[in-house]
Amino acid sequence: MLPISKMAAAVQPSATLAAGAKARQLKADGQTVFDFSLGEPDFNTPAHICDAATQAMREGKTHYTPAHGIAELRGSIAKLYRKTYGLEVSPEQVIVSNGAKHSLHNALAATVGPGDEVLIPTPYWVSYSDLVQMTGASYQLIPTTEAAGFKMTAAQLKAAISPRSRLVMLNSPSNPTGCVYTHQELEALADVILEAKLGVISDEIYERLVFGNATATCFATLRPGLPETTITISGVSKSYAMTGWRMGWALGPLAVVKAMANVQSQETSNPSSISQYAAIAALEGDQGCVEEMRREFEARRDLVCRRLNELPGIRCPVPDGAFYAFFSVQNHIGRTLGGRKITDSTAFCAAALETAHVNLVQGSAFGMEGYVRLSFATSREQIHQGVDQLARFLQG
Ligand code: PMP
Ligand code: GLU
Repeated sequence: MLPISKMAAAVQPSATLAAGAKARQLKADGQTVFDFSLGEPDFNTPAHICDAATQAMREGKTHYTPAHGIAELRGSIAKLYRKTYGLEVSPEQVIVSNGAKHSLHNALAATVGPGDEVLIPTPYWVSYSDLVQMTGASYQLIPTTEAAGFKMTAAQLKAAISPRSRLVMLNSPSNPTGCVYTHQELEALADVILEAKLGVISDEIYERLVFGNATATCFATLRPGLPETTITISGVSKSYAMTGWRMGWALGPLAVVKAMANVQSQETSNPSSISQYAAIAALEGDQGCVEEMRREFEARRDLVCRRLNELPGIRCPVPDGAFYAFFSVQNHIGRTLGGRKITDSTAFCAAALETAHVNLVQGSAFGMEGYVRLSFATSREQIHQGVDQLARFLQG
């Protein structure tokens, strides 16, 4: 019999991907599903990006590339950070991978292992805990509250640091809450981090999707010393509707990026050559498409929050970024809905799917009970219909 390793046995399937797969299966079985599970733009990749990929294929750019990505793309990424945030990075400090999830894996694999601890503000994106565990390191969750905007304070971080703490994971704009830390809030965290000599993985994948007066901050730029201790992660999946192309990146201190490149060279070799050329077109081409999609997400945010807050017993804080509404269902815990006793967020989501055909993700998958995540990366029509369904469902 083939054994299953301890590491693999401990890994949970991604709850968000599992929820998306469930919706796909139900639809294939002919059922109607109002699917708000996956954080994936419903737009197709803009045409000029697809054209660049086609051209790359026609020109024979279909071979292995350097494992850490072609110089031209790494140059484009370095230029982007210089231009957008004033962060000086060389192309050698950039590595491109098979999606930001892979970049996160490489970053963790290159920096922590057994005996080390990673600090994770909670709620957190589903994959962080499993990705940390896969390295043999452990994690400590730092719980936040809705009243605090789901943000970790500097005092909370300071109190959580142990002698084994090595890294802090930051994610602003956040998945699943959509909260966006201000410059000042991040500066306060930076001071604690620098004093405790911790490293940072700053996952900034939603940086282009901010609403109203909110602005995204590149954490590494906040204080001298941070570029030497921070790995910045981002990618094209969310900003350019390119989830299927699997194209993410990391940038940071040269020694760490080299270590990540070594891991990648043994693990996957280069990410798709064709996707790399598409990513160059995305970053260097007209940015109008990004703003167009951002504006639509903002309109959907306004719509979904207004509609959810009209529902009995639902409280939905307004997110400043990303495309998630993270709302409280605490008032419904203990009720019976759709013939099912609502004991927690998982039971709420199961009943909503069974009875109302509305597919949401339970807050517990993100480390926070009593809440539910709704991805509004879907049409306004779907949002209206789905919330109508939820309204009927909540009547019991
Ligand atoms: N970080 C966060 C916070 C995310 O929500 C996602 C979504 N998949 C990722 C990283 C990974 O993105 P991808 O691998 O598609 O680039
Ligand atoms: N990040 C998205 C989400 O949270 C996509 C799913 C995933 O990569 O796990 O829904």
